[in-house]
Amino acid sequence: MRAWPNEYVERAAVSLGEFELIERCFARQGHPLGRAVALGVGDDCALLQPGPGMQLAVSSDMLVEGRHFLSTVPPEALGHKALAVNLSDLAACGAQPLAFTLALSLPAADVAWVQGLADGLFALADRSGIALVGGDTTAGPLNLCVTVMGEVPAGQALLRSGARPGDELWVSGHLGDARLALEVFRGRLSLPQADFEQARQAMERPTPRLALGLALRGLASSAIDLSDGLLGDLRHILRRSGVGARVERDTLPRSALMARQAPELQATCLLAGGDDYELLFTAPAAAHRAVLAAGRAAGVAVSPVGHITDTPGCRVVDAQGQPVRGALPRAFDHFAAP
Ligand code: ADP
Ligand code: MG
Repeated sequence: MRAWPNEYVERAAVSLGEFELIERCFARQGHPLGRAVALGVGDDCALLQPGPGMQLAVSSDMLVEGRHFLSTVPPEALGHKALAVNLSDLAACGAQPLAFTLALSLPAADVAWVQGLADGLFALADRSGIALVGGDTTAGPLNLCVTVMGEVPAGQALLRSGARPGDELWVSGHLGDARLALEVFRGRLSLPQADFEQARQAMERPTPRLALGLALRGLASSAIDLSDGLLGDLRHILRRSGVGARVERDTLPRSALMARQAPELQATCLLAGGDDYELLFTAPAAAHRAVLAAGRAAGVAVSPVGHITDTPGCRVVDAQGQPVRGALPRAFDHFAAP
């Protein structure tokens, strides 16, 4: 898009070599685009053709420097994460990835840095069967916005609105390690180097649970991906479904690293960690074994962590079934007072 004349942008655009950068880092001549992409990067629009009887699932997530990542993050990790958080939304809908776009605002055209970003992005894209089909590149503060498109048989998308009283509540993988890394970056926690590396890996390189999302079609009654913390994201399911939930705190899946932390910190990380990108979903109790089998087929552990109730609200209970006392940690909200 042509910007208004502005000295900073004009100068930056010249040194950027906008089209050369796109050509060099993002166009990938001759790379297969997949059956659903009739036309990729290079024209005014990309052209997509979802399969017969399929609905297009579309989602965008933006990563802003200083807000979602630090300037010191390696570009490969940033490329991975920009796509991973978007793929996680497709996973939560049970959609098969098809294509994505990348809108990129960059302070400078550092080709090595942009190539690193593209490498991280394409490594995950190729593993996930999704092609880059377009985008926009402009000078400005560092900011990446990926839009993903996937397909799902009409009427079969997993939604937030289908949870019913009596359903079991499930979570994939384990929770909270990314929050441990954030606490270290904030200077509130210190960890031995190897532990910090593990936590940082969880924060910078989340795995979108695409295979699990597909395996849960027709099985889960509702689903959401965990980006802001379990309690906050669960609330979205509860509101949309008009139900309540009981969460058994001590069943929340945690790594050995998490299990070594102080109980208070564990509760914060597990219940309100943020950046987990695991799936939180509900399924009828009769589907218990089928859900375990879906997890096995998808290669990820799934853990039952509570139940859906008809009393509104969310109750967190301890191993004895007693309500957890004290204020519960709050989920992340960009516009909430700190
Ligand atoms: P327009 O001016 O029509 O918006 P652009 O000149 O911005 O087109 O982009 C030229 C082509 O390059 C388009 O096909 C666009 O989708 C693609 N493109 C631009 N930036 C990116 C990017 N960061 N990643 C992938 N494709 C891009
Ligand atoms: Mg453009």
